Amino acid sequence: MTSSLTDEKYIGIPRGMSYYEHYPFWYGFFNALGIKVILSDKTTKQTVSKGAALVVTETCLPIKIFVGHVVELLEKGVKRIFVPSLQSIAPKIYNCSKIRGLPDLIRNIIKEDFELIEPTLDKSEKNHGFYDLLKGSVKCFGITDFEIIRKASKEGWKLYNNFHTMMRNGISYKDALKNALLGKIILKEENSTEYPINVALVAHGYDVFDDQASMKIFDKLKKMGVKVYSSCQLTDEQKIEGLSALNQKMYWANELDMTGTAGHYLKDNNIDGMITVNSFGCGPDSLMIEKIVRKAKEYNKPLLCLTIDEHTGEAGFVTRLEAFVDMLYRKKRIIQSNISKTNATFVPKTNICDTVLQ
Ligand code: SF4
Repeated sequence: MTSSLTDEKYIGIPRGMSYYEHYPFWYGFFNALGIKVILSDKTTKQTVSKGAALVVTETCLPIKIFVGHVVELLEKGVKRIFVPSLQSIAPKIYNCSKIRGLPDLIRNIIKEDFELIEPTLDKSEKNHGFYDLLKGSVKCFGITDFEIIRKASKEGWKLYNNFHTMMRNGISYKDALKNALLGKIILKEENSTEYPINVALVAHGYDVFDDQASMKIFDKLKKMGVKVYSSCQLTDEQKIEGLSALNQKMYWANELDMTGTAGHYLKDNNIDGMITVNSFGCGPDSLMIEKIVRKAKEYNKPLLCLTIDEHTGEAGFVTRLEAFVDMLYRKKRIIQSNISKTNATFVPKTNICDTVLQ
């Protein structure tokens, strides 16, 4: 595999970090230019261990996972790897230092001989906009013509927009991704079910859409009869408005995923509770979650904060989820029974740990 890949027009993409949000774009863009995309496999325990072995212990889990994916691409013989440097997405709005320095980190810790494709997006210091990012992504293939790049980017946007439209309509991440890559769009899940409990999940995509990192949190909540809402169902306008509900100004590029989303769902009475998931050692999230915790008390919204790292045990994780969801069922039952013994047809289940989960 190694020798045939060295001359081909291909690019390796590690399945981590911005992959969870941007992959449909890059897939459409590179394909339109005749560049084959080679994606690393799904994250496993070994991926995490390989990444963790190369970085300092304090590094957050998603970065360890990303490093593990780069290592696994190299093991497959992929010698041209795409690691964009996403510095700043708008004037004075920055990504965290680990995201900004991702290509430098990879270059310094992986001593193998390979080509690192590291285009930059930096709308603050360097005025490198989106077109510069695209240009830098394909320069190594000798593609420099603006019109060709623009046309290819349209293909990328098509898939990206379809993907996000599906997510906004509540289609699961896996189905939205699968359909977007096939050039399809679906707006309703087959067999969509009604759920008695609604929970807002406040987290970055790379923390919760990676089944290994999040221990399949979406599937677990679904089995408990919980409908999960996340930042993916919201427009940027809704998240910006959510941010101001928390009296928060935007500084971090991914602030809309956390405080913006939390601010929106805290005000939504259909949301029974909120769960935050963040990685151990994440500086920006620890500040944002502190704010969310204080505001959740003001809004009287039940909140569960989960922190993950490579040592998080599944049993303890599930126990905390079960206890939280059980509490939401009980709370809902009390609210329902207080609505005057009512005409309500809804009868909440309780003790889900004994019933739904069996
Ligand atoms: S924002 Fe937090 S979790 Fe994300 S890369 Fe930075 S430190 Fe890691």
